[in-house]
Amino acid sequence: MTNFNCEETQMRVFDYLSNELDDKSKLQVKTHLGECSKCELEFEIERKISRIVSSSSSDPISSAKFFSQVSDRLRSEE
Ligand SMILES: [Zn+2]
Repeated sequence: MTNFNCEETQMRVFDYLSNELDDKSKLQVKTHLGECSKCELEFEIERKISRIVSSSSSDPISSAKFFSQVSDRLRSEE
Protein backbone atom coordinates (compact mmCIF):
# COMPACT_ATOMS: atom_id res chain seq x y z
CA MET A 1 0.00 0.00 0.00
CA THR A 2 1.47 3.33 -1.00
CA ASN A 3 0.60 6.26 1.18
CA PHE A 4 -1.13 9.34 -0.16
CA ASN A 5 1.00 12.38 -0.76
CA CYS A 6 -0.17 15.84 0.31
CA GLU A 7 -2.09 16.53 -2.86
CA GLU A 8 -3.92 13.21 -2.77
CA THR A 9 -4.75 13.66 0.89
CA GLN A 10 -6.07 17.19 0.51
CA MET A 11 -8.21 16.15 -2.44
CA ARG A 12 -9.91 13.65 -0.16
CA VAL A 13 -10.19 15.64 3.06
CA PHE A 14 -13.73 16.78 2.38
CA ASP A 15 -14.86 13.27 1.44
CA TYR A 16 -13.14 12.01 4.56
CA LEU A 17 -15.15 14.45 6.66
CA SER A 18 -18.35 13.52 4.84
CA ASN A 19 -17.58 9.88 5.50
CA GLU A 20 -17.64 9.09 1.80
CA LEU A 21 -14.35 7.28 1.51
CA ASP A 22 -13.81 3.55 1.53
CA ASP A 23 -12.01 2.11 4.54
CA LYS A 24 -8.67 1.89 2.78
CA SER A 25 -8.66 5.52 1.62
CA LYS A 26 -9.90 6.65 5.00
CA LEU A 27 -7.01 4.92 6.70
CA GLN A 28 -4.52 6.43 4.25
CA VAL A 29 -5.88 9.94 4.82
CA LYS A 30 -5.79 9.41 8.57
CA THR A 31 -2.23 8.11 8.42
CA HIS A 32 -1.05 11.04 6.34
CA LEU A 33 -2.77 13.56 8.62
CA GLY A 34 -0.94 12.06 11.57
CA GLU A 35 2.41 12.53 9.84
CA CYS A 36 1.97 15.83 8.05
CA SER A 37 1.24 19.07 9.90
CA LYS A 38 0.48 20.88 6.66
CA CYS A 39 -2.37 18.51 5.78
CA GLU A 40 -3.49 18.39 9.38
CA LEU A 41 -3.97 22.16 9.21
CA GLU A 42 -5.88 21.76 5.96
CA PHE A 43 -8.05 19.14 7.63
CA GLU A 44 -8.81 21.47 10.56
CA ILE A 45 -9.85 24.21 8.14
CA GLU A 46 -12.13 21.85 6.20
CA ARG A 47 -13.60 20.54 9.42
CA LYS A 48 -14.44 24.04 10.64
CA ILE A 49 -15.97 24.92 7.28
CA SER A 50 -18.07 21.79 7.10
CA ARG A 51 -19.40 22.52 10.59
CA ILE A 52 -20.28 26.09 9.67
CA VAL A 53 -21.89 24.98 6.42
CA SER A 54 -23.93 22.18 7.95
CA SER A 55 -25.20 24.44 10.71
CA SER A 56 -25.98 27.41 8.50
CA SER A 57 -27.98 26.05 5.60
CA SER A 58 -29.80 23.02 4.31
CA ASP A 59 -29.79 24.27 0.75
CA PRO A 60 -27.01 22.38 -1.09
CA ILE A 61 -26.42 25.07 -3.70
CA SER A 62 -26.00 27.95 -1.29
CA SER A 63 -24.00 25.66 0.99
CA ALA A 64 -21.52 25.00 -1.78
CA LYS A 65 -21.26 28.69 -2.53
CA PHE A 66 -20.84 29.52 1.12
CA PHE A 67 -18.25 26.79 1.46
CA SER A 68 -16.03 28.31 -1.19
CA GLN A 69 -16.39 31.78 0.30
CA VAL A 70 -15.45 30.66 3.80
CA SER A 71 -12.72 28.50 2.39
CA ASP A 72 -11.14 31.43 0.54
CA ARG A 73 -11.37 33.60 3.60
CA LEU A 74 -9.73 31.07 5.90
CA ARG A 75 -6.94 30.43 3.43
CA SER A 76 -6.19 34.12 2.95
CA GLU A 77 -5.78 34.46 6.74
CA GLU A 78 -2.89 32.03 6.82
ZN1 LIG B 1 0.68 16.33 3.67
